[in-house]
Amino acid sequence: PPNSIGWIGLGLMGLPMATNLLKKTSEETKIYVFDVVEQAVQDFVKLNEGRVEACKSSKEVSDKSDIILSMVPEGSHVRAVYLTPETGVLASNLGLKVLIDCSTIDTGTSLAVRDACAERHPNASFYDSPVSGGVIGAEKATLTFMLGCREDDPNIKLLMQLLGLMGGNIFPCGGASLGLTAKLCNNYTSGLIAIATAEAMNIGIASGMDPRVLANIFHTSTAQSSILDDWNPVPGLCPDAPASKGYKGGFRVQLMKKDVGLAVDNAERLGVKLALGAEGLKLYEEASQDERCKDLDSRVVYRLLGGREDW
Ligand code: NAD
Repeated sequence: PPNSIGWIGLGLMGLPMATNLLKKTSEETKIYVFDVVEQAVQDFVKLNEGRVEACKSSKEVSDKSDIILSMVPEGSHVRAVYLTPETGVLASNLGLKVLIDCSTIDTGTSLAVRDACAERHPNASFYDSPVSGGVIGAEKATLTFMLGCREDDPNIKLLMQLLGLMGGNIFPCGGASLGLTAKLCNNYTSGLIAIATAEAMNIGIASGMDPRVLANIFHTSTAQSSILDDWNPVPGLCPDAPASKGYKGGFRVQLMKKDVGLAVDNAERLGVKLALGAEGLKLYEEASQDERCKDLDSRVVYRLLGGREDW
């Protein structure tokens, strides 16, 4: 990888991802960082003195770096990072630079940023590359990257090498914004499986079954899933799952609401018929507002379905 890497967005995911980049590159590699929360930047600089430099804007990050990555919450933030006049990434003189946005956002915004980049900086390249694996995957550098490009992209070697420092699996998805499409399809599936698993567990429990027995049966039958085995919504079934720790940690319910909502929007735009999307989204919307669920792991929807927690 190049000796100067830019990083924008040092939140729950961005901080451990950027930390892995530092750990896995040589002493000569410098990271230039910006976050709207100045404290986040100062803390990161302090922890990694000599190798990390604080910047005052996304433009300054791109002025100083050969390759720029961003990890911010939503489409509006991605627009702010790249498109703000004077201080955004595209205000910099980009030349041949490579830009990678890892945020999970709508495909329309990502394509708009890509088009604006192509128009103003014809030799630079912008990629969507959202991730799955959560904060733990970010810390352990085992993230899955869904890369919005073809396998024969001219930058593919560099992209695979760089993202490989932070993740275990990197999938070129076939073209611009298709990394986001893959990510949204994944979270749509896992979000609805969590609801179905919670509902089915509740049917078993209401009938007098021990949910542990039911989970063991699912595990060896067709209802098996990683939600069942590692993220079971019923407290006490998976000792390490957020459900067994008061739904703390994991994947915030507001993020699941965002991702299921974006997948439903995609389906509408494309004319793809959904039987479950609207109902699933409603439940995640409700949970995002509910004081018993807000800010907790998304599998907390079990609470809204009236699930028992006294196991
Ligand atoms: P976060 O809120 O913890 O961090 C986002 C960071 O971006 C914050 O530090 C914020 O200050 C910064 N930011 C916001 N606007 C900015 C701007 N204009 N310029 C510079 N910095 C700005 O969020 P997160 O959990 O790290 O998630 C980031 C993205 O990753 C989201 O799109 C999310 O859906 C996705 N994601 C999250 C997880 C997870 O488990 N948390 C897993 C996979 C994907």
